[in-house]
Amino acid sequence: MHYTGTIWRPPYEASSLLLEVTAGCTHHSCKFCTLYHDLPFKFRLSPLKDIESDLQEAQLWSTDPISKLTARLQGMPKAQRIRRVFLVGANPFVLKHERLMKIAGLVQQYIPSVKTIGCFARITDIALKSDEELAALHQAGYDGLTIGIETGDDSALRFMNKGYSAADIATQCQRLDQASIQYNFFYLVGISGAGCGEAGAKATADVCNQLHPRLIGVNMLTVYPESELHQEMQRGNWKEEGEIEKYKEIRTLLEHLEIPVSFAALGASNAFQFQGALPKDKKVLAAALDRIIETVQEDELRMYRTTLRHL
Ligand code: SF4
Repeated sequence: MHYTGTIWRPPYEASSLLLEVTAGCTHHSCKFCTLYHDLPFKFRLSPLKDIESDLQEAQLWSTDPISKLTARLQGMPKAQRIRRVFLVGANPFVLKHERLMKIAGLVQQYIPSVKTIGCFARITDIALKSDEELAALHQAGYDGLTIGIETGDDSALRFMNKGYSAADIATQCQRLDQASIQYNFFYLVGISGAGCGEAGAKATADVCNQLHPRLIGVNMLTVYPESELHQEMQRGNWKEEGEIEKYKEIRTLLEHLEIPVSFAALGASNAFQFQGALPKDKKVLAAALDRIIETVQEDELRMYRTTLRHL
């Protein structure tokens, strides 16, 4: 398989086939982000011949009797039929409609057991597609996109250079709803800065309540020295939220969400991990967050943050 640099995928894509179709990020400008700094370029398309050869390789693992036997002798779990492909890269949904359709065609050609194809997407990637193209992409299997909206707080989106507004999130995700393409959101706790977390959470709930995300996953902002945000902090232009404030922010987001949605904190940035379905589990999750806010010390949480070497 061709893989370039660190491969990032959501926790819930653990059993998907990871297929590299891009590397890096077309935007590459969010002030807090260091995810693709290990690459010597900003963004790269994978050649179709590499994609095809990776699909052939994956086809072999899942169907070839000798590969299956070797895996069994090595004590590996029984090969499952591949049901889902997750396209690798920060925003493969930026690819032109024709290329995404071509990739879906290759996936079907080599691994017909695949039912759906997911990937990370930016709000601006959706805006590049017509309604007809979105509908055709859904027909071709694209579903369950993961979108790092980060927040619905316009001043934070502007300051962090995300390249879209809260209104853009609403408009573009309503278009996904119309095309029946399901999506998951990542929310970045702490993005609004010290003293503004709860207002940012309310603004985000306002946007989410207009939409139908399948999941809202919270990740906690961890500022790394290589980031532009770190320089902004050194210049005195931005102040980081405290760790307890971040938990109050999550609590506020949870409280203001009025839609049925999975709500989770799963990645390494979260010292405490949890998952539940709203509205059913709202009280239980709120109580768990209250316990953290009341009983865990700021210093303990800060220690977790500062020793987190990698997300
Ligand atoms: S769009 Fe995502 S990957 Fe690209 S710079 Fe922003 S946070 Fe990083």
